[in-house]
Amino acid sequence: MRKIFSAIAITSLLVAPTYSVHAQSDVIRSVTEVAKDIYRLQNNFHYSMVVVTGEGAVVTDPINADAAEWIKSEVAKLTDKPITHLIYSHSHGDHASGGAVLAEGAEVITQANAPPAIDGVVPTFRFEETHEFTQGDKTFELTWLGPGHGEDLIAVVVRPGNVAFITDAASPKRLPWRNMGGANIDNWIEQVQNIDALDFDVFAPAHGTVGEKSDVADVIAYMEELKAEVLAGLNAGQSLSELQASITMSDYTDWEQYDSWLSENIEGMAGFLVSSGQAKTK
Ligand SMILES: [Zn+2]
Repeated sequence: MRKIFSAIAITSLLVAPTYSVHAQSDVIRSVTEVAKDIYRLQNNFHYSMVVVTGEGAVVTDPINADAAEWIKSEVAKLTDKPITHLIYSHSHGDHASGGAVLAEGAEVITQANAPPAIDGVVPTFRFEETHEFTQGDKTFELTWLGPGHGEDLIAVVVRPGNVAFITDAASPKRLPWRNMGGANIDNWIEQVQNIDALDFDVFAPAHGTVGEKSDVADVIAYMEELKAEVLAGLNAGQSLSELQASITMSDYTDWEQYDSWLSENIEGMAGFLVSSGQAKTK
């Protein structure tokens, strides 16, 4: 049964977006159905998810105020029912701004560590570890991923369809963001391991292209290899520029952002390994 779901999911990845909208000259927007009634909405480099059920629409991150207005208008094309739930993946401003227009009349769900209000939107439901609800013909499984990239990051798995909406901690075949923002990278790797422990078929990230479950293990392998190589270099007395010149992560040259972010990934990892006391210091 799971194989059948996978085959359907992978087939759907090959189709072009359902339609694209260039609402403003410099904003790239698209709507793609990744599984039945589960849509990925693109606003430039950020993606949100809209799930249409028999009773309404469940929406994840608003992204920003303009994007949220657009998401609301797209929801109205998909269903005449209201938005019943707004789920925040986490509270970082580039994903979580401008939610007021989507929150009207909806249950607003966050992990318990989120601030009291997110860009003026007060969550109506907070959970610690996991939260599950059913809306119409869809079930939503929300899981806190622990600290690492932020303190309030969750995964959202939707069934049937077995789609996981995953924000920032991991994307299929894509390097982690720049220098990883000073995060505790051991915790970040644990977040990705927690994603790997979830049961899903379609990996729908908030950045980059849609993938499949096995892409999660590849992200863990990337981060662990990066950590091992940077640690070995630091312990051999290499400077940051020497690390950046010698570490190639050659198995990952086809990943998104390889050319632009590898140096910053090395910098972030080196900073973490020194500040956490794992690297020998001279
Ligand atoms: Zn974030």
